[in-house]
Amino acid sequence: MRARLASFGDFKCAHCHAVVSSAHMLSGVNNRNHCPYCLWSCHLDLFAAGDRLSACKAPMKPIGLTMKKGRNKYQREARGELMLIHECVECRTLSINRIAADDDSETVMAVFQESFTLGQQVQAVCQQYGILILKAEDAGIVQTQLYGRAVEIPAISW
Ligand SMILES: [Zn+2]
Ligand SMILES: [Zn+2]
Repeated sequence: MRARLASFGDFKCAHCHAVVSSAHMLSGVNNRNHCPYCLWSCHLDLFAAGDRLSACKAPMKPIGLTMKKGRNKYQREARGELMLIHECVECRTLSINRIAADDDSETVMAVFQESFTLGQQVQAVCQQYGILILKAEDAGIVQTQLYGRAVEIPAISW
């Protein structure tokens, strides 16, 4: 794996206008692309996280949570990683993003709870992308991932 390019620098959140540090030490993730306070992102990437090739640049709203499948797609028992689903307010593109260490857990929970009211249209689009939005019955998984790992995370069946 080649070394990552220099950080793209701090940015100002397009939604809540907080200045966001892209320092890896704080977020624990490469290519921080969303605000840790309101979790809004920006439509910057086209093909891969961090490529910054998209011409859109519109804000992206956090609309729900999903679980990223393990590296081995045949390994259905693998534990997933909790991910944020962002939807571009301009072109409706969806993207999934890792939750950073300094993201506000309460806000992540709020996004999760709000996602229960998502319209069927958004859910259908998620399906087209192969993204499974976590539902109310997945609350235990979400809590475990956000607040601690004392409880075993059950495998998700797709
Ligand atoms: Zn923000
Ligand atoms: Zn867009």
